[in-house]
Amino acid sequence: RYDTRNLIAFITGATAGIGAAIARRLVAEGAKVVITGRREDRLQALKEELGEQACALPLDVQDETSIRTAVESLPAAFSDINLLINNAGLAQGGELSQDAELENWRTMIDTNVTGLLQITHALLPGMTERNEGHIINIGSVAGNYPAPRGNVYAATKAFANHFSLTLRADLGGTDLRVTSIEPGMVETEFSKVRYKGDEEKARGVYEGLKVLSSEDIAEAVFWASTLPPHMNINRIEVMPTAQSFNSFALYPS
Ligand code: NDP
Repeated sequence: RYDTRNLIAFITGATAGIGAAIARRLVAEGAKVVITGRREDRLQALKEELGEQACALPLDVQDETSIRTAVESLPAAFSDINLLINNAGLAQGGELSQDAELENWRTMIDTNVTGLLQITHALLPGMTERNEGHIINIGSVAGNYPAPRGNVYAATKAFANHFSLTLRADLGGTDLRVTSIEPGMVETEFSKVRYKGDEEKARGVYEGLKVLSSEDIAEAVFWASTLPPHMNINRIEVMPTAQSFNSFALYPS
């Protein structure tokens, strides 16, 4: 297996949920991690928990300047990133398209699409120069199966899922690896953010369901990123057993 102690990971959205779990798992396995996100208090708390193996950098993936500043200020011990986890992302609102707010659509595109691209564009040159690196994009099953109220969130995740494959095509012939991890329902702060702080509505999403935990997704990241260098996992789609598919909707006239 790839020796985890050689990993220097850059994780977006490490202040909560899946990103924080990935950071904890990688550090426990001996890796170094650059933890990023907008909420500085949370970053500092996680940095204190993780210790010397972690470097905390406040960063907004929507803001190109913030990304450049963060990447340029990486301490030498953390500068040769060889594992990028594009995890930062969010949903905003759960209306049908015909009722949705344009601003919510913009926020999702700016974060889940433009943000992912800006980070990738900033870190990819170093990886290609060193001919070493692995990019893991956290997409979603929402990007694979259409459902009402998914609209733009699902479309941004379809972008993430597919960009992993097209990026991999471009990197063919190099030693770089790309993996798309596409989770189903995971209990995190995702629904609280989606419903703009409405805790009750957010809790209702997971009520009575045994859904995935952030640690379950961290397990998939750990597995894919520590396989021998000749193995590239293209995509992993993972759902809770309690979540499955539905039939086509039919509307008799
Ligand atoms: P959380 O809300 O718990 O965490 C989201 C993270 O993204 C936070 O750390 C947040 O940090 C960060 N983030 C959001 N916007 C920005 C930004 N502009 N710049 C930097 N960081 C940002 O949700 P999850 O852990 O569930 O979500 C992680 C990823 O997993 C997302 O891409 C989501 O789409 C995906 N996913 C989640 C599923 C689920 O059911 N939970 C299912 C499938 C995929 P901060 O606010 O501090 O900036």
